[in-house]
Amino acid sequence: MSASKIPVVIVGGGVIGCSIALELARDARFDTTIVERNSEVGQGSTAMSTAIIRQYYRHAESVKLARSGMQVWSRWREWVGESRAASDVVDFRQVGVLWAFPESDRASEAEHLAQCARLGVQLEELTVSAARDRFPDYAFADTPASFGLYEPDGGYVADPSHATRDLYAAARAMAPKTRAFTSAEVIGFEHTPYPERRVTGVVVHRNGTLETLAAAVVINAAGPHSYAVNALAGCPLPLTTVPNRQKLVNARDVGLAWGVRDYPVCIDFVHGLYIKPDPETFRMGANMREDEDEFLPNADDFDERVDDEWVTRKSAAVKTRMPASQLAELDPRVGVYDVTAADWKPILDKTPVPGYYVAIGTSGAWFKGAPVIGRIMRDMVVANEIEGRDTDTEPLTVALPFTEQAFRVGEFSRFRTPHATAGVIG
Ligand SMILES: Cc1cc2nc3c(=O)[nH]c(=O)nc-3n(C[C@H](O)[C@H](O)[C@H](O)COP(=O)(O)OP(=O)(O)OC[C@H]3O[C@@H](n4cnc5c(N)ncnc54)[C@H](O)[C@@H]3O)c2cc1C
Repeated sequence: MSASKIPVVIVGGGVIGCSIALELARDARFDTTIVERNSEVGQGSTAMSTAIIRQYYRHAESVKLARSGMQVWSRWREWVGESRAASDVVDFRQVGVLWAFPESDRASEAEHLAQCARLGVQLEELTVSAARDRFPDYAFADTPASFGLYEPDGGYVADPSHATRDLYAAARAMAPKTRAFTSAEVIGFEHTPYPERRVTGVVVHRNGTLETLAAAVVINAAGPHSYAVNALAGCPLPLTTVPNRQKLVNARDVGLAWGVRDYPVCIDFVHGLYIKPDPETFRMGANMREDEDEFLPNADDFDERVDDEWVTRKSAAVKTRMPASQLAELDPRVGVYDVTAADWKPILDKTPVPGYYVAIGTSGAWFKGAPVIGRIMRDMVVANEIEGRDTDTEPLTVALPFTEQAFRVGEFSRFRTPHATAGVIG
């Protein structure tokens, strides 16, 4: 590492950690090491992500973040540079996103719909008959009464691990000293003595040996292990993150007319599920409150089985929403979210430990914004470590990539009053 550069360690090589690494690689003032427990990047909770890209949120700063993220995914090759052939980078399948809500939500959603429109999101409101006409593969019954929204720009990223590898390859191409220290676990922190207690490095366990990596800046991007890494740093936060167990089913759908038609993603609050209709891996997951309450004491210790009753019930719901669907080769799986318990919003912030930052609590919803979160974290590190600002007293506002919308980073601070809008679409 050259003496003039700021050594940064990122704990975690998921989509968040690799996005931060790419943004630091674009800035010649940093040397970055990712420490990753797995044998390669993108194998943690990111690997299980459904990677749906949509912009409908109820919280204004989340809408802006999602909108900028959408622009990045639409220009993925441009974003990751020429480090890979165009055919080697991951696909963003822009098939649109269809939302179904119970009629009882209409009044409350109207306000959020208006906000999305003000912020530049293209969204169409659909009556039941309009939804039937536009999307004949999806069934919209008159009872229970419901209404729909359609986001034509939305879709999903075909393979979230592949996207993470794209980010890491781009970081390496831009700054060859960027490295991922894999099969290596951060098990401790080093600090200067009290009262300063500035972070000076991390202790890493790898192949049975311990090693200290010096760092002026350490960023926690450990996904569902974020709470444990904060504890290792001696830095619990006022807002707690906690791992959350999520059931889902991968399958092949042998009933749909693949190759003839595109099917939009469907996020269905009437039946409590979402559908990612991909020809290779059809995915259904859940979005009801009762599907989001399995919090885990330990992100490494959970039941990987999914009960048959749940699979049968959700498969029947898919069939109700998509009558031609015929699921085969059902493969029930479990993923883990890293949830900010109070309001399901990320925490993107510095901490009371000088040099220690967090990009955590992505709450099952921020694959879409990860590349932009990388940029925000870089701006935060530059402001505090290079420009001598204190973003606690002088909160950061950044212009978001492509949209140039002003984003108030303090909305995702560790001190915020929890937002009223919780859950994955909060
Ligand atoms: C089932 C599921 C469905 C989702 N669906 C969507 C969706 O449709 N749309 C959307 O936008 N978002 C979605 N998300 C959310 C999104 O995928 C996550 O927010 C994102 O992938 C989190 O990335 P991460 O880098 O923070 O975490 P991770 O990918 O978990 O990366 C953290 C890494 O840190 C490593 N690590 C942890 N502790 C240590 C340590 N001590 N030392 C070294 N390494 C360590 C882990 O091994 C891991 O690889 C979903 C998430 C899940 C789980």
